[in-house]
Amino acid sequence: MISPHPFLANPAKQMLIGGEWVDALSGATFETLNPATGAVLATLPAGGADDVDLAVADARRAFEGPWRKFLPADRQRVLLKLAELVEQHWEDIALLDTLDMGAPIRHTRGPRDLLVGLLRYYAAQALSLDGRTIQTSIPDTFACTIKEPVGVVGAIIPWNGPLWACVWKVGPALAAGCTMVLKPAEEASLTPLLFADLVLQAGAPPGVLNVVTGSGAAAGQALAAHMGVDKVSFTGSHLTGRKIVQASAGNLKRLTLELGGKSPNIIFADADLSVAGPTAARAVFANAGQICSAGTRVLVQRPVYDAVLEAMTEVAGSIRIGDGLNPATEMGPVVSANQLQRISGYLDLGRSEGARLVCGGARLTEGVLAQGYFVAPTVFADVDNTSQLAREEIFGPVASVIPFDTEEEAVRLANDSEFGLGAGVWTRDVGRAHRMARGLVSGSVWVNCYNALDPAAPFGGRKMSGYGHEGGAEQLDDYLAVKALYVNMG
Ligand code: NAP
Ligand code: MG
Repeated sequence: MISPHPFLANPAKQMLIGGEWVDALSGATFETLNPATGAVLATLPAGGADDVDLAVADARRAFEGPWRKFLPADRQRVLLKLAELVEQHWEDIALLDTLDMGAPIRHTRGPRDLLVGLLRYYAAQALSLDGRTIQTSIPDTFACTIKEPVGVVGAIIPWNGPLWACVWKVGPALAAGCTMVLKPAEEASLTPLLFADLVLQAGAPPGVLNVVTGSGAAAGQALAAHMGVDKVSFTGSHLTGRKIVQASAGNLKRLTLELGGKSPNIIFADADLSVAGPTAARAVFANAGQICSAGTRVLVQRPVYDAVLEAMTEVAGSIRIGDGLNPATEMGPVVSANQLQRISGYLDLGRSEGARLVCGGARLTEGVLAQGYFVAPTVFADVDNTSQLAREEIFGPVASVIPFDTEEEAVRLANDSEFGLGAGVWTRDVGRAHRMARGLVSGSVWVNCYNALDPAAPFGGRKMSGYGHEGGAEQLDDYLAVKALYVNMG
């Protein structure tokens, strides 16, 4: 095993239950790998249903005990301290994400201000749990609403942005006064464990945040079905999302579902192509295509179709691919052998469905790249929007470029998808930008930009991209229950 990171000095990691670092009750473990080299980084407890039981019980004890005594200003202090600690340990966190899931260090280092800013935003939200006073028609009666934390939250997160997911789940839970059991993805559990340690250091009492590592089928399923969990906040694929919905039925727990996408990025002929073309390429290839809101369906108006293809191909050819530890690297490997195999299947499918391969289309195996799971940035042109290539989330660096003629056709094609997560619109016509923004069935619409994110704005999906939000005032409500209070003043 290699230990290039202080957090990996002891590579036998433990999980956090009730403020204690522990092994799985069964003693079972699993390994996590560096996808750029295939090297084992650490072993982790393979938690199961019995570990989830303990964690949920501790989360309940903390919720009803010490955490309940934390006033809004106390919770704000914890969140502000957490923001400070995340900022202080930023280099370690970025490096750990790069080692564990392969994203280049320049990508994992990038969002420091945004993620620290999100924690500070949640800290401010801790002071804004306001209800309403209501003018009822009942004589001599005062009525209002009170917002209360929903209770114990189960969070289940993917591997493609481990720190993002931790911040997006833990931040609002702490702001609202909930406690949490977090189940990270097997492929990227190291950063969530490091983050949990920072939450303890920030002053959250034991049991407020628990982390149970292990498989989705064992630990994840047990958490989603647990009768002692009041809400599950899930980020992952729509297929797992369905299982979460089914598992939640036992106690009808509340859900937030942040699922996948096949987001359209729509370029009109009047757009500034010097920005639109390269941005369209980066919107697919960033994080090797492993971003839920990646703009993987690039819809291009026919007069500029060839020009956009050319720009995208040029970017694809110039991306520096390699081990993410090299600061010059722009694209790393995909996360696992499984993911590589899945993506390769789609590359074959695209060809057999008749799409025109413009560039890429294969695994990269030159030199050291052969040790990892590297895929060439790929552009398919003339893709039929009804083909599997255009309909299914690939979660790899694969763009489907689709021509269109009119605004109406663009909206129709864009909305002809099971998903509705993000959408880009490139035009200089302000009226068209607004018409498109209203016509698109999508959680976010970006005009003349792509994947812009701000702590104060909600991020979420429509259709099979899920429901509920991350960030924004809306997210806090997902972690709050509303109580109506009537007081007879007579
Ligand atoms: P995934 O396979 O759905 O897994 C997500 C999480 O669910 C992992 O922790 C997984 O555990 C766990 N899990 C698997 N089966 C489960 C079950 N039966 N019950 C409970 N939990 C279970 O997704 P992924 O491949 O990790 O991540 C990629 C997906 O996430 C893509 O679809 C992407 O679009 C989506 N995503 C969405 C957003 C958003 O905000 N909308 C953000 C990021 C990613 P193990 O992996 O350890 O088995
Ligand atoms: Mg790993």
